[in-house]
Amino acid sequence: MNEQIICSGCGIPVQTKDSDKPGYAPKAALERDVIVCQRCYRLTHYNEVPDVPLTDKDFDKLLDDVSKSDALVVMIVDLFDVEGSWMMKRKDLNHLPLVIVGNKFDLLPHSVNENKIKLWLKKEAMKRGYKPEKIDLMSANKKADVMRIAALIDQVRNGKDVYIIGSANVGKSTFINQIIRAFDGDEDQLITTSIYPGTTLAFIDLPLDDGSKMYDTPGIINPNQMYRSIPQKEMKLLQPKREIKPIVFQLKEEQTLFIGSLARFDFVSGEANHFVCYFPEKFTPHRTKLSQADDLYARHKGETILSPPSKESLEEVPPLKAETFTIAHDKTDIVIPGLGWVTVGHKGAVVTVHAPENIKVTLREAII
Ligand code: GDP
Repeated sequence: MNEQIICSGCGIPVQTKDSDKPGYAPKAALERDVIVCQRCYRLTHYNEVPDVPLTDKDFDKLLDDVSKSDALVVMIVDLFDVEGSWMMKRKDLNHLPLVIVGNKFDLLPHSVNENKIKLWLKKEAMKRGYKPEKIDLMSANKKADVMRIAALIDQVRNGKDVYIIGSANVGKSTFINQIIRAFDGDEDQLITTSIYPGTTLAFIDLPLDDGSKMYDTPGIINPNQMYRSIPQKEMKLLQPKREIKPIVFQLKEEQTLFIGSLARFDFVSGEANHFVCYFPEKFTPHRTKLSQADDLYARHKGETILSPPSKESLEEVPPLKAETFTIAHDKTDIVIPGLGWVTVGHKGAVVTVHAPENIKVTLREAII
């Protein structure tokens, strides 16, 4: 019974234990004449690709091959979690042309300045050593956006193959699935899965008009993504369903805002100031006195005004770490990547931010 079953679609060893790991198939699938992993099953029956998350080591191997290619790299980042979207930077990829696409644009308030977002994204990319040829924005759940980005890719690739890369949860599958659905003719014939050499990972290649290929690589898990900090059953709460609406607070020094039990902003000192909160709909900020904040958190974390997440889930969330910022410019965003942000109206405010210790709180010029 130890005989290894291989997926007939992509050649990956099939396992029935962990649906989050490559090669997963439900036990019932082993009874079929032709055994395929869940990924290949979904691909052929529903034209959709569930993302299989990767470890750093696997991903490194995959990038080895990308670095030896002569392809265009398209990196998708989540505009709602830009900090958590970056992948480890490798110098041997620098020679490859790069396009960065900021996804989930639909979640940002309509009043956002698109050029400002592109500039900010470019700055963040350059800070990390990326030199993108193009930066664009999209909502992968909108077909027209995906088609526009596909046309941009086609224009930039200059006959080359294309690798689509991105951290888990940035919307890579949503993007690829839109493209798969847009293919004409017999889609099953057009899309192939191939096993990635040297690893047990399957990935999808889509033949392009001129014989080149578009490769969908598995998404790497970045431990610094907020959605990894919260148990799976409550992860959905972090994913806003629609455009984020601002909630404005006029605060005096020594007041605190709680964002559920996941974050806290202490306005330590400064003139009265406005704090504009942009968080998913389930996280309604709660205002209290700074002097009472510790006590309130100790007694009520995970309950009513200080939820989500629930008390039970909170036990799995990394402890909150405090970091103090002095706001140097009017209209500065304090960003908690993957959760949301607060725009502080005037410079001079001293704000202590508490967030899960694995999350890097950042400042940026206000995007609105
Ligand atoms: P992947 O892990 O990178 O493949 O990400 P998925 O495609 O599975 O998307 C992760 C989550 O983001 C899902 O809940 C998607 O519905 C959501 N999502 C993806 N693209 C968009 C988008 O453009 N707008 C919004 N609002 N949600 C999106």
